[in-house]
Amino acid sequence: MFRSRERQRIYMDYASTTPTDPRVLEAMLPYFGDRFGNAASLHSWGMEAREALEKAREEIASFIRASPMELIFTSSATESNNLAIKGAAFASRGKGRNIITSRIEHPSVLEPCRWLERNGFEVTYISVDEHGLVDPAKVEEEIRGDTILVSIMHANNEIGTIEPIREIGEICGERGVLFHVDAAQSLGKIPVDVEEMGVDLLTLSGHKIYGPKGIGALYVREGVKIEPLLHGGGHEYGLRSSTVNIPGAVGFAKACELMRDLMEEEAERLGRLCRKLIEEISEIDGVHLTGHPEKRLPTIASFWLEFIEGERLILELNERGIAASIGSACASGKLEPSHVLLAIGLNEDRARRGLRLSVGRWTRRGEVEYVIEALREIAGKYAK
Ligand SMILES: *Cc1c(COP(=O)(O)O)cnc(C)c1O
Repeated sequence: MFRSRERQRIYMDYASTTPTDPRVLEAMLPYFGDRFGNAASLHSWGMEAREALEKAREEIASFIRASPMELIFTSSATESNNLAIKGAAFASRGKGRNIITSRIEHPSVLEPCRWLERNGFEVTYISVDEHGLVDPAKVEEEIRGDTILVSIMHANNEIGTIEPIREIGEICGERGVLFHVDAAQSLGKIPVDVEEMGVDLLTLSGHKIYGPKGIGALYVREGVKIEPLLHGGGHEYGLRSSTVNIPGAVGFAKACELMRDLMEEEAERLGRLCRKLIEEISEIDGVHLTGHPEKRLPTIASFWLEFIEGERLILELNERGIAASIGSACASGKLEPSHVLLAIGLNEDRARRGLRLSVGRWTRRGEVEYVIEALREIAGKYAK
């Protein structure tokens, strides 16, 4: 079994990625070996692969209460978000050119939106309140005659805030506008149910729920039209050409199957650990909780700290064997203020002082206590 405490290291960055569950790895292994077939082939190897693929599709689809023909495999949540947004925009561009999203979306939603703006579309960015909540009434206000798509995330990956998706879904349904939801961070932590949420398009990722990296999925409600990004052999109902990643799909499905049994208990246990982190770390002078006090994922504790800049803090924690995050992955190497922290009203200086601790399947109480102690020590060193 994976042990996060190996060599005195504590992993508290489950929101970035999770270790692959050993049971997931075991389920995948045959598909790297004997069962290597291409699901599009007509012979027995192909049939074997096809069977595994369709079984995986059924498992994941039923986990979000979709039908299998509404689920297509992609390489990641990033690809699913791109496919949903650009795909819907191009399929509906005869109807209109306006898209509505929020200021706190993941870059894999915001960047496709910016790209569409450079290519003849118009994007409305909805602001959020100080807890990161999108007001459904604001979404309704912004819907115009030429609005074709609304894209709002289920739960925010930096501050954990859970958005009022059902209310927004209802509004989109009434106004006849497509509704896309990025559920990469919420899947497996809180219920994700496409019927209850009233969504048309929904993004999922394997590696955030103890599945492998390199596999994602997009739910496309029956009858909803999107244009593919990848053109080729017509795989995945013509929406995503390319030989499907069978080991990935099998692993993702196994991760969902495990979640089905574990989610409730796990959310409760992790919720307790997370509340302990939030309560005790918030008590340190100069530390402030970010995100909603209640409407938040049970796995993310997020703060901003007056006395230390984010990157410095991550290094201080790393020296103590603790893996944490400033909230968003910094691909450029230069620490930009977090767009999420800016959107909830922090200034540029404060928006560089974020900390995200995220817990998961192998987090233990002792680790939580150690991290709290480490932060007290760092506060003692830096706070004047
Ligand atoms: C991690 C994450 C993504 C990107 O997922 P990949 O599968 O790594 O591309 C997108 N949106 C949210 C909310 C995420 O947390």
